Amino acid sequence: MTDKKLKIAIISAHSCPVGDLGAKDTGGMSVYIRELARELGKEGHAIDIFTRVHDPADPRLEDLSEGVRLIHLTAGKEATIHKMDVYFSLPEFTFNLENFWKNNGLQYDIVFSHYWISALVGKYLYQTRQIPYINMYHTLGAVKNAIGIGERESNLRIVSERETVHDCQRIIVATEKEKQQLIDYYGAVPEKVGVVPCGVNMGLFKPIDKASARVKLGLADEKIVLFVGRIDPLKGIDKLIYSMSLLKNIDKVRLMVVGGDENSKPELVKLKKLADALNIGEHVDFRGLVTQEQLPYYYSSADICVVPSYYESFGLVPLESLACGTPVVATDVGDLKGIIKHGETGYILKDNSPGEIARAISRQLSLPVKDTESIMSIRASVSKWGWGNITEKIAGEMRLVLEIQSRAAV
Ligand code: UDP
Repeated sequence: MTDKKLKIAIISAHSCPVGDLGAKDTGGMSVYIRELARELGKEGHAIDIFTRVHDPADPRLEDLSEGVRLIHLTAGKEATIHKMDVYFSLPEFTFNLENFWKNNGLQYDIVFSHYWISALVGKYLYQTRQIPYINMYHTLGAVKNAIGIGERESNLRIVSERETVHDCQRIIVATEKEKQQLIDYYGAVPEKVGVVPCGVNMGLFKPIDKASARVKLGLADEKIVLFVGRIDPLKGIDKLIYSMSLLKNIDKVRLMVVGGDENSKPELVKLKKLADALNIGEHVDFRGLVTQEQLPYYYSSADICVVPSYYESFGLVPLESLACGTPVVATDVGDLKGIIKHGETGYILKDNSPGEIARAISRQLSLPVKDTESIMSIRASVSKWGWGNITEKIAGEMRLVLEIQSRAAV
């Protein structure tokens, strides 16, 4: 069983793994699927990723990398639509998926579904074809509602999460905290939950000489504070902007906010207005979407990366920043306490109040500029999160499910 190469169907109806990262609904989950699939493919497994057509120009079938194909299925309007509309298009998605499988004679050992919407597809495939499904929720509706920031999650989401938590063969979470939340909010069976952290592409996220990175981005010789991510109220960007207004030396500091597409406009406009109202508009740059290939320039040119989130299921941005040798100031979300070495590679905040963030930023900015040795040691602190290690663990989780299934069949 250990060496058996698997045929894996990854379902991501909601978010496209090759969509624009940092857009309203496309972030860590897409990176996760893309990176994991690439590594699984390299290991000789055969991966098909199924998503919706988000744009009429989307190729129906695309080879992404060795052993990895991406299949766009028509389901609802061929555009980026609200996640509830994705839910309502699931019958069409599933119908087209089954036809694709049938017309191409496809069979899979296991389904790996992502987010509550795709978990429902996993559930259907299990009921109709007995293919075991593992689900990863990425975020939990009940936890979001308990935090109470941003859009309220529907009862439909909560009910679907509860139902699939009980129905699926295994759940993968990225942190022990999330495992506990699954138990507390949904009554998950602890033995059914595998904890496997997310990873970082250490080959892509590498330190670049700070001065040349700044020249490349047209930045002046200032202290740079960086935020990277989707423009979502749960990320606490407003708190970060408030905190900047409390800095004594704001004239020598610049905040760069990276992320946000057309659909994030209303939130971006609010944040810009806030910066202007606090009289720090000229010290805040909204850079919009930046590709991952360009992001190492941003991380490397920054003195500090700030993650002021109310909630992260894991938080890839802090890992990417540390891999580039840039310290991180973050709230105690996801597994950041295990990733950031408090006082060494960054700072864990007590909360995301502006005063607390401002104090941590001032402290970090007052430290001497990092030499190459300290940059490399910050990078080395996250090397165990390389995707190779993570993928091995995920493949192990899949084999475990198949072993349990074959034992049950005897
Ligand atoms: N990202 C990007 N360009 C942007 C903004 C974000 O490539 O303009 C990527 C970032 O590199 C990271 C992901 O989006 O890999 C965000 O993941 P994270 O886990 O931090 O947040 P999530 O989106 O899951 O809330």
